Amino acid sequence: DSFFEQVPLAPPDVIFHLTATYKADTFPQKVNLGVGAYRTDKGKPWTLPVVKKADEILHNDPNLDHEYLPIKGIPTFTAASAKLMLGADSVAIKERRVAGAQSISGTGAIHLGALFLSKYYPKGAVAFVSNPTWANHKAIFNNVGIEVADYPYWNPATRGLDIDGFLGALNAAPNGSIIVLHACAHNPTGVDPSHEQWTAIADVMQAKKHFPFFDCAYQGFASGDLAADSWSVRHFVDRGFEIFVGQSYAKNFGLYGMLLTAIPSMFEIWDAIFEDHKRERCGCLTAVTRDTVTAKRVDSQFEKLQRSEISNPPAYGARLVNIVLNDPVLFAEWESDLRTMSGRIIDMRDKLYKKLIELDTPGQWNHIVDQIGMFSFTGLKGR
Ligand code: PMP
Repeated sequence: DSFFEQVPLAPPDVIFHLTATYKADTFPQKVNLGVGAYRTDKGKPWTLPVVKKADEILHNDPNLDHEYLPIKGIPTFTAASAKLMLGADSVAIKERRVAGAQSISGTGAIHLGALFLSKYYPKGAVAFVSNPTWANHKAIFNNVGIEVADYPYWNPATRGLDIDGFLGALNAAPNGSIIVLHACAHNPTGVDPSHEQWTAIADVMQAKKHFPFFDCAYQGFASGDLAADSWSVRHFVDRGFEIFVGQSYAKNFGLYGMLLTAIPSMFEIWDAIFEDHKRERCGCLTAVTRDTVTAKRVDSQFEKLQRSEISNPPAYGARLVNIVLNDPVLFAEWESDLRTMSGRIIDMRDKLYKKLIELDTPGQWNHIVDQIGMFSFTGLKGR
């Protein structure tokens, strides 16, 4: 008898399964609208020019080695990540009440934060996620034993934000709940709260002593402006909240490293490794706490948890991001690359909207241009 006998068959991941089916499909005009990865006009992945430059700098570095990174990652990388998210003039950074760890992209950042909460947050607290949300949120929190519930977010009638339902759920949630918030470019609706709505959300969360856990996977992708896209996070920090924020560099640096998980056959995986071995996943978990001693304690636990999870984070992607974030000239080039990507997305929305209007398509279509980022809820039903 094998204990494997009782292991149930898990269904394949919907999005990545779709990618595999898409690859196998021979229809020449096929388009994959599933996975959230940027594509060029030719439907191809885009290596950011600034990433290519950073790659050259890295490989011409005579001191480059393949030693272990520190457990919490490259210190200048995590510091620059906090600065990118919180702002160069952030009071929390000046007051040294920020902790951080390099992670395996955004997923790893959320996982590490969730794991920390499962150990140190008051037991029984529920994590609330938007309805709908990125499917992994529920799985990540459930995996570390935190129960997940949802708050209303999408209003199908307006194809916009259900702010009343959202605020009502925050009010009804037990005090001190964990609230997962998409910092910008909400996945999958493309609907973000306005500044006024964020302020109202923060008001209720402050009154209810909820803990904000920001997921920021699309900074610079929503508006093309890094500061504008982290307004929500900065607003909460300005108001004195203690927060977690998980950052992903998958989209805004084009460092998805996703070919490995998206491609089914072993031969193709090896092809992908050789062709694309340079893409590596990196992200960052940052905590803003009330004071320096608290930040130090949190930081020490990040290190301890990370050690037992992955020992040391992978170096490649973080080295590239570290080079760009810490060089003013390359940083400016990155901002320009971001405007290229966000600009194209905005342009595609505009073209689709105009075409629908030109064709006299029945229905309301303004949500296509009102929604932002990579995702759009069309309001269409599948057949
Ligand atoms: N959060 C959201 C809302 C996302 O859409 C994604 C990417 N699909 C992530 C986190 C994390 O992705 P990654 O681990 O590739 O950085």
